[in-house]
Amino acid sequence: MARTLQRLGREPLVSDGGMGSLLQTAVVRARCAEEANLIAPEQVVALHVAFIRAGADLIQTNTYGANPVKLAAHKLDDRFEAVNQAGVKLAREAREVAGRDVLVAGSIGPLGVAAGELAPDAMAAAFAGQAAALEGRGVDLFVLETFTALEELLAAARAVRSVTDLPLIVQVTVGDDAETVAGLAARAVPAAVAGFDPIAVGEVAGRRVAFLPRHGRDHRFPPHKIPYRANMWALRSLGVRRVLAPTAVGSLTPSFGPGTLVIPDQLVDRTRMREQTYFDEGACHVPFADPYCPTVRSAAIMAARESGWVPAGSGTLVVIEGPRFSTRAESLWFAAQGWTLVGMTGHPEAVLARELALCYTPLALVTDTDAGVDEGEGVTQADVFEVFAANISRLRDLVAKIIAELPADREDDLCAHALDGITLPFDLP
Ligand SMILES: [Zn+2]
Repeated sequence: MARTLQRLGREPLVSDGGMGSLLQTAVVRARCAEEANLIAPEQVVALHVAFIRAGADLIQTNTYGANPVKLAAHKLDDRFEAVNQAGVKLAREAREVAGRDVLVAGSIGPLGVAAGELAPDAMAAAFAGQAAALEGRGVDLFVLETFTALEELLAAARAVRSVTDLPLIVQVTVGDDAETVAGLAARAVPAAVAGFDPIAVGEVAGRRVAFLPRHGRDHRFPPHKIPYRANMWALRSLGVRRVLAPTAVGSLTPSFGPGTLVIPDQLVDRTRMREQTYFDEGACHVPFADPYCPTVRSAAIMAARESGWVPAGSGTLVVIEGPRFSTRAESLWFAAQGWTLVGMTGHPEAVLARELALCYTPLALVTDTDAGVDEGEGVTQADVFEVFAANISRLRDLVAKIIAELPADREDDLCAHALDGITLPFDLP
């Protein structure tokens, strides 16, 4: 997985395409393009090799229509395993023949039935079966190819995820109006599938963006179990240099009510059990007096103002270990120190980002008033989720706007120079 993601982070990858149509013309006796894997393997390999020689960095297995439903229509259902396994084998053979280290993607296409014609369980089983057959033969990643209906796309993504954690490329076919024939808008796809992968990579406002849900797929990591070091390392490895970190926080001051957006400028660490450095040997001490990126903070404040969501332009975020909320006494004590926000995830994210010379900027959304503050009655999870849900689309729009307005380079940025003069115990990714 690392290999594929690193390559995607470094450069655009050129893929092949249209294997099926080409083979259908080339192998006229095949009942469908995928049968060529069994009856004309040398032609499949030759086509793959031609694509590699033409510059493809990624080739897709000739298995687009090799799901049990489509194969049954061609009376090839008993050859399901064989067709898929041969698809992978031939692509890998072509890679050997061409002598270039291209990525082999397991291709999965739609089932070819109308919406509602198949029960959701049958749909899931068909996709999962194909994914398992492809993965067993050693693909590097998966491509869900030319889908048009969101429901089917999600069923396929879920099914692939039920058998493998390999990277997943999701593709939809759209018309001039940027919508599929089933009315699915291309721009709605990234958000719809973001939760299926540890990191989704895409483009926002012409810039390459990686989206990493810090709590993992299905929100599996509570705040104290989040793999903070792996997360920041993965982002840096993908080529990310600026991190925008939306986070739900409690307010320690009556002036920040629920729904307030705060771009904090200071941080207090009250966590206890989290690994908070990459530098476990040598003398490496990064400056951290100003924990957040001044450049991105200004851009974020400006973008929020322009969007009509006037933010608090400063604040001190105290990060607690959690997952429990604060006691009344803790909360009063934090407030008495002049700290204004309390959260559970802002640390060690910020310092790890600094250690990797990344810009890091929290976008803190106040979801509740902490115990003991003003009339605060103590926080419940329901309060937090309610306010977060009410503001999520606003926050998403704001992130897109900030991305669009970030300065092009970060040469003068203190974060970019955080490691100047420090001898690191390892090479940065
Ligand atoms: Zn910066």
